[in-house]
Amino acid sequence: MSFFKFCPNCSSQNVEFENHRRFECFDCGMVYFQNVAAAVAVIIEKDGRILFTVRNREPKLGMLDLPGGFTDPDETSEETCARELKEELNLDISPAHFKYFKSQPNDYLYKGIPYKTEDLVFVAKFPEDAELKLEKSEIQSIKWIKKSEINLDEIGFDSLRKAVKEYVE
Ligand SMILES: [Zn+2]
Repeated sequence: MSFFKFCPNCSSQNVEFENHRRFECFDCGMVYFQNVAAAVAVIIEKDGRILFTVRNREPKLGMLDLPGGFTDPDETSEETCARELKEELNLDISPAHFKYFKSQPNDYLYKGIPYKTEDLVFVAKFPEDAELKLEKSEIQSIKWIKKSEINLDEIGFDSLRKAVKEYVE
């Protein structure tokens, strides 16, 4: 598939978008890079179980996911973790309490446009007496799954499947 058929600067069709990464217009010389997007995912643990969300939107509707999302401009990855957990689950965890675990590249197809992301996976403890409130447009439900009982095939994204596998091993 192809997108960006025209140059956004001069409307020429004499363009190339190699690997959906480097866009070049051969008429006006415009060059645009679609760079890798930073994103986070958080492994939240409590009593030997990990908190998974069930996706309520495409891509990977109905599959297991970890809470998280794309980093906003001028945000640290730890701040992304804190903001996303607040938005998705109404969970209050301060940025200082996320421990970096590992990174994993991912493909994220959204409305026909393929994005390359770098998912930074963090670990956090579930705060005592926290009450979850789900962002229903994004999350159908949550599941606390024992580390020994996680079915990796139910996890939607390859990147997170690898990270969870490594984490529980
Ligand atoms: Zn142009």
